[in-house]
Amino acid sequence: MAGALIFCILLIIILTALLFTNILNCYNLPPLISTITDKLTSKNNVDSTEDSTLNKKNSADNQISPFEPWPHLRLPRTINPTRYNISLDINLVDFVFHGSVDILVEVHENTSWIILHATAIHIKNSSVEVVKKNFPHESIAISRLYSNGSNEMYAIQTVDMLIKNSCYIIKFRNFSGILGDELKGLYRSSYQSFDGSTKYLAVSQLQSTDARRVFPCFDEPDMKAVFAVAIRHHRNYTALSNMAVRRRTFDGEAVLVEFHDTPIMSTYLLAFLVADFVNKSIENSNGFKIQVWSRRDLEEQTSYALEFVNKTYEFFSDYFGCSEVVTKTDHVAVPDFSAGAMENWGLVFYRETSMLHDNNSSSIPNMYWVSLVMAHEISHSWFGNMVTMKWWDDLWLNEGFANTLMFLALDHFEKNWKVFDLQLVSYIHPVMTKDSLNTSHAVSTAIIHLDNITTSFDAISYDKGMALLRMLNGFLGAENFKNGLKNYIKKFKFSNANMSQLWSIFESSSEQKIEVGKIMNTWTLQMGFPVVIIKHIRNNLYLIDQKRFLMNAQDSYEVQSSPYQYKWIIPFMYKIEDDDAVHTVWINDSSLFKMKIPSNKWVLGNINSTGLYRVNYEINQWKLIIKQLYRNHKVFSVANRAGLINDAFNLARANMLPYEIVLNLSMYLYKEDDYVPWKAFFDSMEFIEDMLSTSNFYGKLKNLLRKLIIPKLPKNLDLMEDKDLLKINFDQLMLSQAIRSNIKHVIQWAKQKFEDWMYSNAKIPTHYTFEIYSVGVMKGDEKEWDFVWDKVRKTLIASDVEYLMNALAYSQQQWLLWRYASYSLNNSLIKVQDVRNLFKYFTATPLSRSISLEFLLTNWDEICLKFESDAFLLRDVICYTMTSINSEYHHQQLKELFTARPPPGVALKSFENALALIRSNINWMNLNQESIGRWFNTYSLETFVTQMTN
Ligand SMILES: [Zn+2]
Repeated sequence: MAGALIFCILLIIILTALLFTNILNCYNLPPLISTITDKLTSKNNVDSTEDSTLNKKNSADNQISPFEPWPHLRLPRTINPTRYNISLDINLVDFVFHGSVDILVEVHENTSWIILHATAIHIKNSSVEVVKKNFPHESIAISRLYSNGSNEMYAIQTVDMLIKNSCYIIKFRNFSGILGDELKGLYRSSYQSFDGSTKYLAVSQLQSTDARRVFPCFDEPDMKAVFAVAIRHHRNYTALSNMAVRRRTFDGEAVLVEFHDTPIMSTYLLAFLVADFVNKSIENSNGFKIQVWSRRDLEEQTSYALEFVNKTYEFFSDYFGCSEVVTKTDHVAVPDFSAGAMENWGLVFYRETSMLHDNNSSSIPNMYWVSLVMAHEISHSWFGNMVTMKWWDDLWLNEGFANTLMFLALDHFEKNWKVFDLQLVSYIHPVMTKDSLNTSHAVSTAIIHLDNITTSFDAISYDKGMALLRMLNGFLGAENFKNGLKNYIKKFKFSNANMSQLWSIFESSSEQKIEVGKIMNTWTLQMGFPVVIIKHIRNNLYLIDQKRFLMNAQDSYEVQSSPYQYKWIIPFMYKIEDDDAVHTVWINDSSLFKMKIPSNKWVLGNINSTGLYRVNYEINQWKLIIKQLYRNHKVFSVANRAGLINDAFNLARANMLPYEIVLNLSMYLYKEDDYVPWKAFFDSMEFIEDMLSTSNFYGKLKNLLRKLIIPKLPKNLDLMEDKDLLKINFDQLMLSQAIRSNIKHVIQWAKQKFEDWMYSNAKIPTHYTFEIYSVGVMKGDEKEWDFVWDKVRKTLIASDVEYLMNALAYSQQQWLLWRYASYSLNNSLIKVQDVRNLFKYFTATPLSRSISLEFLLTNWDEICLKFESDAFLLRDVICYTMTSINSEYHHQQLKELFTARPPPGVALKSFENALALIRSNINWMNLNQESIGRWFNTYSLETFVTQMTN
């Protein structure tokens, strides 16, 4: 009985397979590109045109395939693509695209399975065909097609084996997708033209795993291939892709644009654009063509980009000893873009604010910002595009290096900017805070789920990666570092490499015999970083110890959970008072060192803050350092002064140093005129101010800050305009802190400037626009708020939009803030790409923070639903809104919300983190509020300085 049943089932399966194969073989294949009139207007329509139940998320698994053909995260390596011929027909009226792709593959092992990626596109299964390369007219019989929604794969099972060492062509002759608003895959963006009409464009963002949303492909970074792209579109637009145009064919209203073949590259670096943009261009002596593109209204703001892009390609060609290999490069300012920018090879996309610079209205800090972003993207041509990480667990190789290289380029162009000091306070100090939480992760982290790929695009990959390279550069020396990079590019050009291959190259490129891999593995394969502790034992003998630095002293962790038990191999560099020599010792574990330090001399560790570690000294040593700062602070470099401040504040927060020492040290700032130490100070003070804003000595704290700030303000605020980046940064910082501390004459000055602008259209000083806008809104009412909002809607200066939007969160009117927060739920008022920033702006004042928290609690369900598909956005919104809370009441309220209605995906983790951080804030208050209060009740700046200088 059972045997008969099995026989019947087998017979049905065989007949079905034969019938299906037959259908495929006889199917009259559609033309290469579907016509524009083949309209699909909604997702439902796409589904209803399915020619079978295949490719529907669940039905494919449940009804067609009795098992998962490939239940793994990574694709099998039995087949490798070598070439794609992609045709896309992009329709900006109905917002759909149709396509076809031929994929040439090599078979490495006999197999009857072709497994690749495809998701969110509708594949007409009857259009799928497999042929042998040498016999293109003979189809290989297909027995089944599978689509798996959860791992975004598509599988073809052939009746006969595909034979090892043979080449085949996999043809998808008909697939289609929607040009949606999700800012990933191929999507639509829009902008308001000067005549008030809405214009649309199609743009792509394929990193990291969204090429599969545009066409079926082997969507992993090491499955590199050559791509030949053709785009058909309406002739009113221009199409761009990675390579230059090979041929244009006009056909009525449409035009078919065929592009040259790309170099061998990864899928995530492909790019497509169909837009009515304008460009400026330049061609260098080697025939390399650079074009910068924007919407017509912003054309004037692309000149700086053109000039900068040109000189940066030259710089990196020289640095790597190897020119860019694509023959042209287009850089485009896109109105809706989720990331800051994307390095697609030969077609780089930017947010408008990351590329545009108005020579008349934009500030020098804006120029610094767009230069950094552009240098980062251009460096990827070598580091990321020519040589790519093997898999996303080494994403930091791409991003940490691009972040390092952007500073190298800027340092070359503008020595006066002292960018390595800025790197420390703007990127490294903030990421050290993140990395000192128990919730951090190693820069090189195993990817075990698709979501992990996207989560790895975080500050740890970018900024900790960069901090580690700053340290590597420090102990190898700049020349060895550069040689290592050059050799790496030379060896792995057009292929992929992993971390250990990079370390081997550095080892062989350096004259010193340094075991780079052994050292660096302790930094890249475990999370966190150490604090080096120097203890006097007797006479000249010192113990140098290390310990994992954790911000929350009460956090516990399993030492065995790390492959290196949370010990690092540390290049410890130090100096002794009255001695110019810099000494380096390698610390593996606790080590006894003989250091000749006379008892009344200071020792300073981590010279120029090149190492990713903190240093803690005995109180006596801290006092000697503080004395030196009062005597002559310039004995220590700017980076060391900033490092001392940042270390001291964080060691105190971690309960490893009394706050008294930190505050004593910080008061030396009355003598400090450099931006970088001040920036380190105010960034650290922000936490203390936030925490203590309801303490009874808060007035004294603000009073002391005012006394520090006032002498640093220019005598005449109207004469602040400057051309020097660091001086402008300094004045901006002091001005914004003066406003935060309610210094009357500054508020009055800014309010007057705002009124002159609002009522008389007077020009606002270019570098201080944000400070003036924020005071105007803060001291104003609905009329001022509406005026600024109107400017947000109308201004064409990209850099100004962010300042204006940020300033709106400074209102002190609850209802205006509430109304502003509610705009986040309306895409026609706040673009999806700006929602994250909006909640960041709300961290501006105690009132805006409390409004955004109330708003989030009140609209929790709607917010979760609206951003369900972008859990990363939700993650950041939670982070901005919750992390400075320090009351039991709110902790309880949020805990209940979390238990009853947890957020989706990665946002869940960030909610857990926020609750842990609130808990630690409450602990911090219990532990420190009193002792800090005592200091403020005992000292004033005058009494303190007199005491220190006598
Ligand atoms: Zn990057």
